[in-house]
Parts: sequence; structure tokens; C-alpha cells
Amino acid sequence: LVELRGVNKHFGTFQALADIDLTIPEGQVAIVIGPSGSGKSTLCRTINRLETIDDDGGLISIDGEVLPREGKALAKLRADVGMVFQSFNLFAHKSILENVTVGPIKVRGVKKAQATEEAMTLLERVGVAQQAKKMPAELSGGQQQRVAIARALAMKPKVMLFDEPTSALDPEMVQEVLDVMVQLAKEGMTMVVVTHEMGFARQVGDRVVFMDEGRILEDADPDTFFTAPQHERAKNFLGKIL
Ligand code: ATP
Ligand code: MG
Repeated sequence: LVELRGVNKHFGTFQALADIDLTIPEGQVAIVIGPSGSGKSTLCRTINRLETIDDDGGLISIDGEVLPREGKALAKLRADVGMVFQSFNLFAHKSILENVTVGPIKVRGVKKAQATEEAMTLLERVGVAQQAKKMPAELSGGQQQRVAIARALAMKPKVMLFDEPTSALDPEMVQEVLDVMVQLAKEGMTMVVVTHEMGFARQVGDRVVFMDEGRILEDADPDTFFTAPQHERAKNFLGKIL
């Protein structure tokens, strides 16, 4: 469903992604881990083209369609990729409900009544329907992050990218967000999850992709990776976080 072939990404002379090949089949949950600065966020951001990739023959495709570099077609394909960030970045001046309806109305052309109905169903699903009329600042971090997930899902994405969705949360709010993600995975959503939550990685990950200095060093099923990492760098990293 998601395919990267020979993807490179430079920021000036600095190479943030080096020759990335990665294929994520439909329904798979891929966990991405690695040291700070290894390119995990950059990888996520290139998949939905918040960042361009080097123009050197590398390509990214979603559901068989190669992501164009810009234009209308890009906006359409990007809508197929939901993204949830570390900082919840909800629209601060819109209510919770409006945060979830604005995308479908503006980008997908959904009628307001239908968008509202679907948004309420999603807010129900992530456990914040009671808060629909409130503003983001009135919600806890965990609640805001669950709204961010609902907002992404409202676009009916084919794949969901999560970039350290729980690392800015107080510890007691981490599990409520992970629970929503576990549920999504069970429903068969294709997911790329950058996280240091190793319990979650083992529980729902179909594979672990370990990045270091812009490269994919290991790509293995979670049991293999956690019990027998192949590279020194991976062993080192696990030693620090487990
Ligand atoms: P962390 O675990 O700290 O979030 P990461 O693995 O997500 O790290 P990235 O944010 O992808 O790492 O960054 C990879 C490298 O690319 C870093 O060295 C970073 O400084 C660099 N980088 C990222 N974005 C930019 C940018 N817009 N301009 C220049 N350099 C950048
Ligand atoms: Mg990052």
C-alpha cells in the first residue's frame, strides 16, 4: 500500500534520508524506532509530502499511485494519508467538533450535516464526544491527541502516520491514546508508528524498522528485533530505552 523506493532526502548538504526502500502492505502496522536525528520524522513527513524528496529517481507511492511533487493531484493523494504529530496541533480557534469536520468539508466536499454526524461518531469512538463543543485548550493532552486522531480519521485515510504521538503526554494519559491506536490496528488500519513505547510495539507491531543516520539498518518482526537485534547500534539503542 505504501511503497518507498530509493528515497533520498537532503537538507542542504546534510543527508537526512539515505536510499530508503520500504514497502508496507495493507493492514500492516510498522513501528519505526531509532536515535534522535536518525530521520524518523523526516520519513513520516516525506510519506505525505510535507517534505519533498530528492529529485534523483526515488519515489513514494500510496496504493499504487506515485506521489506527484505538487499540484491538485498531490492534495488528493495527501488526503489519503492521515498524520498525528507529537504536538497535538489542533486548530486552537475552532471547537473540537469543527476541528474534525473542517477537513472533510473543505477537502473532501462533504456536506456539513454529514460531516458533523461522522465527526460525532469518531469522537465517540475515541472517547471525547462529551467535549465536542469545547475548545482545544480546555482539553487534557490525552484528550487533544485523541481528537487529533479523530480529525485524521475523518478524512478516511488509507494509511495513518503517527510521529511519537504519546511522547509529549503526561504518563497517565499515554495509555488512553495507545488504546485508541490498538483499536485502530485491530480494525485493520495500515499504520506507520514512530514510538518509543516498546510495549505497544511488541503488542501491535507487525514489524520494527530501526533507523540510524538516515538509513534503515534493520527491518524485522518485533520478536526477532527485540530478542536478537543484528547491529551494534540497534543493541546499543535498545540497551538505553528498555
Ligand atoms: P527525534 O527522535 O529527535 O524526533 P528524528 O529521527 O525524528 O529525531 P528527524 O527530525 O527526521 O529525526 O531529523 C533527521 C535529521 O534531519 C536531523 O539531523 C535534523 O537536524 C535534520 N533536519 C530535519 N528537518 C530539517 C530541516 N527542515 N532543515 C534542516 N535539517 C533538518
Ligand atoms: Mg522526530
